[in-house]
Amino acid sequence: MPRRRQIYEGKAKILYEGPEPGTLIQYFKDDATAFNAQKKGTINGKGVINNRISEYVFLRLGHIGIPTHFIRRLNMREQLVRQAEIVPIEVVVRNVAAGSISKRLGIEEGEPLPHTLIEYYYKDDGLGDPLIAEEHIACFNWASNEEMQDIASMAIRINDFLCGMFAAINIRLVDFKLEFGRIWDGDYSRLILADEISPDGCRLWDMTTGEKLDKDRFRRDLGGEEDAYQEVARRLGLLQNEDNGPGEVFDLNAHRGKLRSPIKPKK
Ligand code: ADP
Ligand code: MG
Repeated sequence: MPRRRQIYEGKAKILYEGPEPGTLIQYFKDDATAFNAQKKGTINGKGVINNRISEYVFLRLGHIGIPTHFIRRLNMREQLVRQAEIVPIEVVVRNVAAGSISKRLGIEEGEPLPHTLIEYYYKDDGLGDPLIAEEHIACFNWASNEEMQDIASMAIRINDFLCGMFAAINIRLVDFKLEFGRIWDGDYSRLILADEISPDGCRLWDMTTGEKLDKDRFRRDLGGEEDAYQEVARRLGLLQNEDNGPGEVFDLNAHRGKLRSPIKPKK
């Protein structure tokens, strides 16, 4: 394979130039970071699972009419996507209080919110991705009012769809993070859903036991993160012997790590 030009290396993924103009290859790493990269580690096999989960979620969202950057998965760790101009805002959708909102406002974790909340964070690692208001977004022209309307309505549709999708496999979608990007056509642009949707950027709790099946296992040193990610993929039906892409066997056993606190799969 010819050497590809690396465009960017982030905390969880590497972006390479794609085979055609306007495309990129997203390579999913096993690297995990938390608390603005103060905590660093790896979750064995995470990249493989996140690539697969994100493919599945983006395809399903595409089917309900959400425009996304996803084109196709290339192999175990890579997917081909449309290159977009990333809006420098992390969009967080919350159904249940957890994490930073619990700390900031003193709401007990697990408390259902009176209604779904959308929060915006300025995407800047140097500043620690600070919480911002829509007024900041307008003031600094990070996105237009029209774009913000599109973002909010897509975020709500995505939330409704994903809540149902996860509820069907006995998982509560507590919160999740989205990124959007612009695709330009002359002077006009439209927004598409970009980046990834995976247990790295979602809080996913087992509905029966409350067990965490997401990156909080890593953040909070709970152990069993490999099994938790794998359990989400398994419940989504992604670990069976189905077609896993160009001539490949999806061999997760190669990635299994040692467990500190086993996740008991539901029967
Ligand atoms: P980070 O450490 O910045 O979160 P990641 O490891 O998540 O980075 O790598 C993905 C990077 O690629 C992110 O900065 C994300 O905004 C960007 N990105 C995601 N999808 C696209 C896309 N379709 N076009 C351009 N950039 C993208
Ligand atoms: Mg990221």
